[in-house]
Amino acid sequence: MISIVCPVCNEQEAIEPLMARLLPSLDACDTEYELIFVDDGSRDRTLSVLIEIRQRTPGIRVIQLSRNFGKEAALTAGIDRARGDAVIPIDADLQDPPELIPAMIAKWREGYQVVLAKRTSRGSDTWLKRSTARWFYRLHNRISEVPLPENVGDFRLMDKSVVVAVRRMPERHRFMKGLFAWVGFHTAVIEYERPPRIAGLSKFRGWYLWNFALEGITSFSTVPLRIWSYVGAGVAALSFLYALALITRTLILGIDVPGYASIMTVVLFLGGLQLLGLGIIGEYLGRLHDEAKQRPIYIVNQEIGD
Ligand code: UDP
Ligand code: MG
Repeated sequence: MISIVCPVCNEQEAIEPLMARLLPSLDACDTEYELIFVDDGSRDRTLSVLIEIRQRTPGIRVIQLSRNFGKEAALTAGIDRARGDAVIPIDADLQDPPELIPAMIAKWREGYQVVLAKRTSRGSDTWLKRSTARWFYRLHNRISEVPLPENVGDFRLMDKSVVVAVRRMPERHRFMKGLFAWVGFHTAVIEYERPPRIAGLSKFRGWYLWNFALEGITSFSTVPLRIWSYVGAGVAALSFLYALALITRTLILGIDVPGYASIMTVVLFLGGLQLLGLGIIGEYLGRLHDEAKQRPIYIVNQEIGD
């Protein structure tokens, strides 16, 4: 059996078109399936649309969270409850084409435990999003122990063994595609063209994306924390050379009172550097604080369907 996990937040217009394409693709696969929708605190008619669809379509389970916990938490809730031998997370907005599912399942049957759907181009994104995404992957992969495959989202097939491994990761800050990559396993890639969103607006824009990138880096790398000893050592070495030069000059040319500009420059530069270092420690400390509280990742309000 295959479990499809779809986190939804204010997607009332997208669900019907999604079902219209998802069901034929699933029927083409010749497997049993369950569809798990996780309603992540929608404020529109999403939940009633889901309940209505459930009445005429078998194999649908709906999990309603008690408020909006974010896509990563909603996905976790769905994956925790999936009973299939393979799990496929999919976005509700048809940016993840359901027509790929039969190809994913075929690869899975060949023996791959993870089948990634990789987007061939970012043509549907703005220039800004394309270039920031490229920089993010470049930086992330340089400083993290496990590289993230580029241009791959949460849309993928995971065998049960992978799902069990992902469920064992208890962290509260959940950068899902990082967690998926971290567990490893035998992986195949299929490529696709990512279409624009079918209805509504993206929930990941601007500041939200920046925080998402911070989550990715702080969850999988401690380089930003550790780099400060090296920056400090470098700055100290430079100051030592500068001090030597100053002393020599004073010995040769005598005492020279002016020097306001150089002192201000050095003081401001070091002050900025120290605040930056502190800020980065704060990023990690804040996350440690969240982890230490051991709160649940999400709260389920109700589960509809068995
Ligand atoms: N989503 C969610 N909770 C949120 C934000 C988004 O469950 O707080 C769902 C959303 O309904 C969609 C998927 O996550 O099914 C991807 O969201 P979106 O399309 O807005 O992101 P993008 O494709 O722009 O990265
Ligand atoms: Mg989308």
